[in-house]
Amino acid sequence: MLTIKNLHAGIEGKKILKGINLEIKPGEVHAIMGPNGSGKSTLASVLAGRKEYEVSTGSVQFLGKDLLDLSPEERAGEGLFLGFQYPVEIPGLSTTNFIKTALNEVRKYRGQEPLDAVAFLKLMKEKMALMNVDQSLLSRSLNEGFSGGEKKRNEIFQMAMLQPKLAILDETDSGLDIDAIRIVANGVNQLRNKDNAVLAITHYQRLLDYIIPDVIHVLYNGRIVKSGPKELALELEERGYDFIKSEVSVED
Ligand code: ADP
Ligand code: MG
Ligand code: MG
Repeated sequence: MLTIKNLHAGIEGKKILKGINLEIKPGEVHAIMGPNGSGKSTLASVLAGRKEYEVSTGSVQFLGKDLLDLSPEERAGEGLFLGFQYPVEIPGLSTTNFIKTALNEVRKYRGQEPLDAVAFLKLMKEKMALMNVDQSLLSRSLNEGFSGGEKKRNEIFQMAMLQPKLAILDETDSGLDIDAIRIVANGVNQLRNKDNAVLAITHYQRLLDYIIPDVIHVLYNGRIVKSGPKELALELEERGYDFIKSEVSVED
C-alpha cells in the first residue's frame, strides 16, 4: 500500500529525514515512535504534501502511484487521511458542512456523484453512533473553541466519514489526555480491517496500550533505526530512548 524508499527531506536547507525506508501492507497497523526532534512530524508532513518541506531524494509509492507527484487534494482522493490535515478554525463553517465538502471532493475525484442529503445524513448517523460523537459538536464552527479532546474526536470522526485506505495520525508531543487517547484508539480500532492500514506516530507508549500495532519502528535522527513487534514499545517505555541512542552510531 505504502512503500517509502530512501526518503531524504528537510526544511529551509536543514536535513531532517536521512533515508527512510518503510513498507506498509493492507490490513497492517504500524507505529512510529522516537524521541523529540527525530523527524516524526516531518515524515507526516512530507506524506501530507506540505509545501514547506523539500524532498531531496527517495520515493513514496501509495497504491501504485507516485505520492510525491500528487497534490494534497489528490492524495486525499486516492485514500490518504492525515490526522492533522485540517487543524484550522473556520468561524461560520459548521463541522458538518466541512465534512460534507471534504467527502464530496473525494467522491468527485473518484468520478462519483455528491452524496444526496438523505444518504449523507444516514452515513453521519451511523458514524456518530460508532464513534460516540454528539450532534452538538458537529453543528459548532469547525474547531472554534474546541478543547484538545474535542479536536481529536472531530478529527477521528472525519476519518470515519472519509473511510481512508491509509490513515496517518500524528500524536503531537504535547500529548493527549487519556480520554483523547481512547477516542483516537477507538477510532483506529473501528477503522481497522483487512483492506486498510494505519500509521500511528507517537512520542509516548501510552497510545499503544489501546492500539496494538503489528510493527513498531523507532525513528531516530531522521532514520528508522529499529523495527520490531509490539513488545518493543514496552522495552522503550522501560528503558527510555537512551538505549537506542547508545546502540546507534550517530552520523549525518
Ligand atoms: P518530532 O516530530 O520527531 O519531534 P520534527 O519532525 O517535529 O520531530 O522535527 C525534526 C527536526 O526538524 C527538529 O530538529 C526540528 O527542530 C526541525 N524542524 C521541524 N520543523 C521545522 C521548521 N518548520 N523549521 C525549522 N526546523 C524544523
Ligand atoms: Mg517534536
Ligand atoms: Mg512531532
